[in-house]
Amino acid sequence: VLAVEGLWKSYHGAPVLRGIDLSVEAHEVVCLIGASGSGKSTLLRCVNLLETVDDGTIHLDGVEITDVRADPDDVRKRMGIVFQAFNLFPHMTVLDNITLAPRKVHGVARPEAEERARELLDRFGLADKAGAYPDRLSGGQQQRVAIIRALAVRPRLMLLDEVTSALDPELVTEVLGVIRELKAGGMTMILTTHEMGFCREIADTVCFLDGGVLLERGTPEEIFTDPREPRTREFLKSVL
Ligand code: ATP
Ligand code: MG
Repeated sequence: VLAVEGLWKSYHGAPVLRGIDLSVEAHEVVCLIGASGSGKSTLLRCVNLLETVDDGTIHLDGVEITDVRADPDDVRKRMGIVFQAFNLFPHMTVLDNITLAPRKVHGVARPEAEERARELLDRFGLADKAGAYPDRLSGGQQQRVAIIRALAVRPRLMLLDEVTSALDPELVTEVLGVIRELKAGGMTMILTTHEMGFCREIADTVCFLDGGVLLERGTPEEIFTDPREPRTREFLKSVL
């Protein structure tokens, strides 16, 4: 689905991503781990074309999206991205938040967009919240709506950046449940998390970033029980 090759990105001359190679297969769940500032969010933002890259290529379904002729809006239609802060539109109901992109960007008619939104709300246990405004929802519910909103356009790929880290511990579980459900449904995902237990459970592939370098990748088993790189071992020791 996705192929990142030789990706470099600097801010004000300081390299933040240094030659990242990453490929993601259909239905694969890739979890990015690494210390704060290692470049996890920047990598997701580059994949979503929220950042211009300095060097390297990104292919989505075989098409180079880093090509100057690629239309970023067209690329973003095929990906869903969810951030730590939920960023729901406060003046819109849950239903309107979810149907906005399908209607305005994808040209889906309102009844059809609403039907799909209600299906998703139902699937994630939020059917009774369709008419509510975001400030009436708990943080966990807001984040679930943010994920549903990203799903409403039927993305090829979901990018989830620390979607639980702004939440109280008791609300984390429900959001992790949504991600589990997405995996069960075969969604291709790249996610970053500081929750190593969850990473270990959900990931097919774990990638360890260290100072903008993708230092090590492997199955959760390999990374968590027998990492090859001393840096990986050190990092895991500090967070586990
Ligand atoms: P965290 O675990 O804290 O979320 P991260 O791995 O997501 O960290 P990034 O947010 O990708 O790290 O940041 C990587 C580096 O790039 C950091 O040193 C950060 O200061 C820098 N950086 C990120 N965004 C910008 C920006 N817009 N302008 C300048 N520097 C930036
Ligand atoms: Mg980050």
